[in-house]
Amino acid sequence: MTNGDLFQGAIALVTGANKGIGFEIARGLGAKKIVVLIGARDAARGQAAAASLKGEGVDARFVELDVTSAGTISRAARWIEDRFGHLDILVNNAGIAEWGFKPSDVDLAKVREVYETNLFGPIAVTQAMLPLLRRSKRGRIVNVSSSLGSLSMANDPQSPVSQFVALGYNTSKTALNSMTVQFANELRETSIKVNAVCPGYCATDINDHRGLRSAAQGAMAPVQYATLGDEGPSGGLFDENGRVAW
Ligand code: NAP
Repeated sequence: MTNGDLFQGAIALVTGANKGIGFEIARGLGAKKIVVLIGARDAARGQAAAASLKGEGVDARFVELDVTSAGTISRAARWIEDRFGHLDILVNNAGIAEWGFKPSDVDLAKVREVYETNLFGPIAVTQAMLPLLRRSKRGRIVNVSSSLGSLSMANDPQSPVSQFVALGYNTSKTALNSMTVQFANELRETSIKVNAVCPGYCATDINDHRGLRSAAQGAMAPVQYATLGDEGPSGGLFDENGRVAW
């Protein structure tokens, strides 16, 4: 299903790639000889991440990209077009969360903020990058989602997912899953595949390093679905073990 060789020399953009799972996704794609564009909202952090990957022999370049800023998104698209003329892989990875609130007491402004990054950001970045992805022989879009967005798991009292309460984060990932299907349907007759992928519970800044897996482990499934062979699926939700229930 995965065919890294097909993607040698391909161009990949990863949002929120300066640290955590995004950084490890960039590293994993770079190891497959893919040119990795390190999308980051902070120039110093983005440049440091690109330099660190360059030190490992990866062709990594920083591109300023705040997924909540239309200006940086359109500048990033122009920058990619000027340098490469197209894009092969987009990984919508940037994300934020709000923990510690019940649905009844979380501030609506906080929920909106989470949606700006986790849902409207990926929509805006995907729309801006699609013209470049359409010029690829085989475009791949991976939306980094979460099992916390799975309605069937959240609705199952036996599932640990039902214990993780975060109105903004969890529902933003449910909506991201739906957005994945919407784009996959629009692109069904093209060579572009769009999938949502769960990295699993990883120790990163988003959860104060409470996760049980490393960011590198979490990056493996997103890298796999970013380099899917032409016979691979589109419009699904996956983790490293295969399909995840919506
Ligand atoms: P993390 O270490 O906190 O990294 C989040 C990344 O997103 C950082 O690079 C951050 O940049 C970036 N970011 C946040 N807001 C942004 C914006 N407006 N524009 C551009 N970049 C922005 O967390 P992580 O665990 O690696 O999370 C990566 C993705 O995995 C998220 O979508 C998260 O929901 C998902 N995920 C994580 C887990 C887990 O257990 N860790 C599980 C399931 C899904 P700054 O450094 O500038 O803040």
